[in-house]
Amino acid sequence: MIVLSNSEAWPGIDETATMLDDGANGLDAIIHGIEKVEAEPRIRSVGYGGWPNLLGEMEFDGAVMDGDSRLTGAVGAVKDHFHVTRIARKVMEQLNHEILVGEGATRFAYEMGFRCDNPLLDDSKAVWWKKLQEITGEASPDLSSCDLAPLNTMITDPEKVRDTTVFLTKDSNDSIYSATSTSGWAWKYPGRLGDSPIAGAGFYADSRYGAAACTHTGEMTIRANTSYSIVMAMRLGYSLQQAVDLAIAELVSLKGGFLGGVVIHAIDNKDNHRVVNVGCEGDIKYWLYKSGMEKPQECIAEKY
Ligand code: ASP
Repeated sequence: MIVLSNSEAWPGIDETATMLDDGANGLDAIIHGIEKVEAEPRIRSVGYGGWPNLLGEMEFDGAVMDGDSRLTGAVGAVKDHFHVTRIARKVMEQLNHEILVGEGATRFAYEMGFRCDNPLLDDSKAVWWKKLQEITGEASPDLSSCDLAPLNTMITDPEKVRDTTVFLTKDSNDSIYSATSTSGWAWKYPGRLGDSPIAGAGFYADSRYGAAACTHTGEMTIRANTSYSIVMAMRLGYSLQQAVDLAIAELVSLKGGFLGGVVIHAIDNKDNHRVVNVGCEGDIKYWLYKSGMEKPQECIAEKY
């Protein structure tokens, strides 16, 4: 048994680990942990504490993957609800589809009994407004009729205002799962999806080989299909170490577009793990718990 998650997981990792120790299904355990992260306003990149888009609206993305069946469920640009991982699981279990976005995803969440979370915190609104004044140079910016694209490209330092929570596990039945949840890139263009709801880019799981999930620059992992490439490399006989090396080589060979940092989290089916910080500033932390450990440990990612 193993669970690997990123630094934002602190509100939920202990309960996830306890559930896994008690023999819970891996997907139940990681969704339970993610819900704690989503509800914690001090986590400024996921759920209730997340940041809005350019128009000051929250838009959440999340996903789950069952590595036994390789079914996925994902939702993107969901405005009213921040427990998106749980909604994504409903997509996987109730629909013949893998991804829902925008109005359709919101409608589906209400149909499944989710209540509106009123997710824009006063503090998030105040920071967004200040940022908007800064980038437009106006005291009362009115975005109702202006083009948003130029504003989007003026936001030069998105690295500091995004992250995701990602959880990967192999449970006591040797089933492997992955799950993600995020409010995405702060002040993003409305409707922008990052990698968190895109299977193969922000997450992947295959109980035969392992799982991977990424945080930070989704624009890069979408282009390089990073999570799938790691699992596919293990299928082709590469070790976890080599598989992650291959994925890093692909990321750093990208040319043009928005290039920034990426953090890769990966496990194989033998309870090995690897977390690599590819180009993010400072130390990046993550959480690890395996059978036999007393409690989840906070560790520092390798730097590429
Ligand atoms: N990868 C996420 C996205 O692109 C954000 C992040 O993890 O920083 O939406």
